[in-house]
Amino acid sequence: MDKKTKILILGGGYGGLKCAITLQKKLSNLPCEITLISKHDYHYQSTLLHKVAVGTYSARKARIYFRKILDKNKISFIKDTIIKINENKVVGKYEEYSFDYLVIALGFKPNTFNIKGVDEFAYTLHSANSALEIRKHIEDKFKDFKFRQDIDSTNDLNFNICGSGFTGVEFAAELANQSKELALICGIDDNLIQINLISKTPKVLPMFDMTLRTKAEEKLKKLGINLVCGSVIECKRDSVVVKNDDKIFSLLANTTIWTAGVMGNEVVKNSIFESENSRIRVNRFLQIPKYENIFVVGDCAIATQRDIIHAPTAQLANQMGEYVALNLIKILRNEPIAEPFKFIHRGTVCSIGHTDGVGFVFKINVVGELAAFFKNIIENKWILSIGGFVNVLRKGQFRFRSSS
Ligand SMILES: Cc1cc2nc3c(=O)[nH]c(=O)nc-3n(C[C@H](O)[C@H](O)[C@H](O)COP(=O)(O)OP(=O)(O)OC[C@H]3O[C@@H](n4cnc5c(N)ncnc54)[C@H](O)[C@@H]3O)c2cc1C
Repeated sequence: MDKKTKILILGGGYGGLKCAITLQKKLSNLPCEITLISKHDYHYQSTLLHKVAVGTYSARKARIYFRKILDKNKISFIKDTIIKINENKVVGKYEEYSFDYLVIALGFKPNTFNIKGVDEFAYTLHSANSALEIRKHIEDKFKDFKFRQDIDSTNDLNFNICGSGFTGVEFAAELANQSKELALICGIDDNLIQINLISKTPKVLPMFDMTLRTKAEEKLKKLGINLVCGSVIECKRDSVVVKNDDKIFSLLANTTIWTAGVMGNEVVKNSIFESENSRIRVNRFLQIPKYENIFVVGDCAIATQRDIIHAPTAQLANQMGEYVALNLIKILRNEPIAEPFKFIHRGTVCSIGHTDGVGFVFKINVVGELAAFFKNIIENKWILSIGGFVNVLRKGQFRFRSSS
């Protein structure tokens, strides 16, 4: 009997799951064994984690279980945590796995840039579980506020959000909306809430043009968010220390959320490959140059087009995952891989609350409800591609949300 070709996909996020689903849809009658390994039984949309963290999107809805969407006759799923990757072996917490072809799609880890106190005192938003931890913490701060009259509770309704990219802005806006609701429920004066969004750049959302960045700032200010410009130099239990030119000042808050940067998954650093910030530089076919049977997709990859490094996004991970799956099919059919990977930027939208946002779609700037509409389409299109129409109805994002 012919030996089956073993394909291993590590990580069930945008890149890994897209790769698995594309293989499931397009591959038939080829002698191969495909396995997806991920550390949870479910996929979560990282792009919606800010909503889970604030409590406006339920954790139940945010999870899409792999075994419900994968056809077990085509793709096996194994729940394991990968620890390191060798030349021809993957080491998991429970088992070791061999492969003929490997797809590394292990996603991101927050980058704290070794700033003092961040690891110890700040929350980071990097997984469904981390989002749930933040949600419980925020809800407790509101629930307990009236009953805690000690000196430590003075800044319980102050929140420092460090970083003004997508995650920071989306989180701050969602929190600003939801905190008013929480204040009402808990009988607290909402004027006591203070949300500071700390930005290293003079304006938020550096990936957008000045018109969109200015619009975003106007919207954030309207929500009552205090925009602070400066670099965080230290994070403490009850404050962050910020430096702006020669001025150093503290922003008091008993909750700090760190959203100021991401790097690749630590597993990459612990493996045999050369890496920069736990990310691997890949060739035009998304292979590791010295190991052409190993592909890297999503936030663990450094991929370039005309020498420009692509910014890590869900859209990029998704396109990379699909590209690698189609190439694997070619390889299994003994066909040459002809076309290098080409990222098609279809647009980006940053939500500012559930019904507002800024972005550009099909090369046109969109703001307000229209931006929020496109944001929902982007999220729902992803669910459609992995879980079909029924899952869009169950878990999709619509104008009036159902899981608040
Ligand atoms: C709050 C927030 C908002 C964002 N908004 C946007 C947006 O609007 N648009 C956009 O394009 N991008 C956005 N991003 C970025 C986007 O989420 C990432 O670029 C994208 O998730 C990267 O996809 P990936 O497949 O590389 O990794 P991920 O989607 O993170 O998937 C990684 C997978 O690997 C698994 N895994 C991790 N470690 C291990 C291990 N050791 N062993 C086994 N499995 C493991 C994880 O459980 C997960 O399933 C946002 C990110 C955040 C946090």
